[in-house]
Amino acid sequence: MTDSPAHFLDDDGQTPERDEARLPEDKTRSEKERLIRCRACSLGIARASAVFVAPGCDGPKRVFANPSGRVFEVLTVRQADGLRLAGESTPEFTWFAGYAWRAALCQKCVNHVGWAFSAARTMVSPDSFFALITSEIHED
Ligand SMILES: [Zn+2]
Repeated sequence: MTDSPAHFLDDDGQTPERDEARLPEDKTRSEKERLIRCRACSLGIARASAVFVAPGCDGPKRVFANPSGRVFEVLTVRQADGLRLAGESTPEFTWFAGYAWRAALCQKCVNHVGWAFSAARTMVSPDSFFALITSEIHED
């Protein structure tokens, strides 16, 4: 009898590694990010993705009055560029508890577009943000 050794060898076939060149994910998720611009001169001052809900608020937009009774609707953003901050920060009459503010002007046309808020106490977060006057800005 011929011994027919059963070749139960595992077909140790290594699955050929697929070595397809991986294209860098060209996900252009944020490629065409919308910008918030100065209404007067269209300078880009914030990314639409920087809009956030500031501490103590229900939404990113809020209406406030200043001590002289002027009413502003503001949009809060985490970060902004192209702004010139004017004067010293003050916590007086602040709209956001724990934050001091100063005026933020468009760097290009000096339009008053909002305010920069910075933490006046250590336990508030974030450290700083901006409130932009909705009537002084527009979005792409
Ligand atoms: Zn401007």
